Amino acid sequence: MEEHFEDLARTVTLENGKILDEARGEIRRAIENVEVACGIPTLMMGDFSEDVARGIDEYMIRQPVGVAVMICPFNFPGMIPFWYLPYALACGNTVIVKPSERTPLTMQIAFRLIEQAGFPPGVANLVNGSADTVNALLDHPGIQAVTFVGSTTTARHIYTHASACGKRVQAQGGAKNPIIILPDADPGLTINIVADSAFGNAGQRCLAASLAILVGKASQEFTPILVEAAVHRVVGNGLEAGVQMGPVITRQSKERIEALIQKGVEEGAEMVCDGRNTVIPGYEKGNFIRPTILSDLNPGSSLARTEIFGPVLGLIHVETINEAIALVNQGEYGNMACLFTNSGAAARKFRSEAQAGNIGINIGVAAPMAFYPFSGWKNSFFGTLHAQGKHAVEFFTQTKVVVERWHDEWTRKF
Ligand code: NAD
Repeated sequence: MEEHFEDLARTVTLENGKILDEARGEIRRAIENVEVACGIPTLMMGDFSEDVARGIDEYMIRQPVGVAVMICPFNFPGMIPFWYLPYALACGNTVIVKPSERTPLTMQIAFRLIEQAGFPPGVANLVNGSADTVNALLDHPGIQAVTFVGSTTTARHIYTHASACGKRVQAQGGAKNPIIILPDADPGLTINIVADSAFGNAGQRCLAASLAILVGKASQEFTPILVEAAVHRVVGNGLEAGVQMGPVITRQSKERIEALIQKGVEEGAEMVCDGRNTVIPGYEKGNFIRPTILSDLNPGSSLARTEIFGPVLGLIHVETINEAIALVNQGEYGNMACLFTNSGAAARKFRSEAQAGNIGINIGVAAPMAFYPFSGWKNSFFGTLHAQGKHAVEFFTQTKVVVERWHDEWTRKF
């Protein structure tokens, strides 16, 4: 993968639309997971207790679960299969990866590399297709474990169906990530980070900032500079130098996002930066939407509650951090929540009280490194064990406890 790094990244950009630097970041994260999984001798170690009773030792070993399936979304075609695949293989399972039907190309290259690396035939398998293919896999009695990443509706279906079929399953769902900006936050740093979070990957990231909750005086200071950052973002072909944001994935997706923006306006939000009807010269048929910001969202409105999955940021204005945290915790999702501040005490309070699996303090995309679990709360996750690191090793192994007697009289003979 290191040798073919640029080829993999370019393919991500070609099939997904994100800019080349983002695609490189994605492949880097995939490789980090391979590196962590190479630590399998220590990650998979068992436990041993000598003489739990006279002459009796007890120990636990980990063995593979069997055949594991990974069902993946379109937004990180190079990274998300690697949240699971290296661990599943290192733990001794065989795997089937099912990429999104909208982005099937990057895994073609990755699987060619896996083949070249010398895995025996049948150990790592690539299956393409959409819902029917997934459902056939869920029903198949030869499959023991299922991982899923995608929208909450599908995640719920995968979790209930695969569990009912007796499989172990973890399903990551959608998100609506809030970030709180306190008046003491550093303006320059905060704005760049928030704009990258909201508009990077054209907002098609499960850790994208979707709601900015501005506390007290932060409203006056941060709203105009956020709009400035949004207006100046360069939108275009992700393979071209200087471009900061590509298109959204399909025509239907563009229409859905623009309809949600319109609904937000009808629900009373104030349009402060309108990215609809974008046409990029030379790419007139591209699914481009420029960064969009709506202000004064009603927290109960559909725009404030629905996952948009596009470059759209909603602003909500409150007076206190307590109100802001209460809004964070009102949401039905719990993938990520972030706080921008210079106050250690505020950060500590937020870290403790915010109901989300990934917390950012002065960070806009709180994506865990490969050795931490990729968590998610509420409707953002169904299951117990998560992707990456030790959680993945637990998920892809089953424990076996051995109780072994070597009677004193027998050992005394030696
Ligand atoms: P999606 O749910 O449409 O598709 C994901 C996968 O499920 C695809 O492989 C698809 O073929 C399959 N699928 C779709 N409908 C199905 C059905 N009815 N039955 C069985 N299988 C079905 O998701 P998407 O649009 O590809 O990805 C975007 C979503 O993924 C967003 O909601 C985003 O928040 C979420 N996501 C979450 C995380 C996370 O870590 N929580 C990470 C990335 C993306």
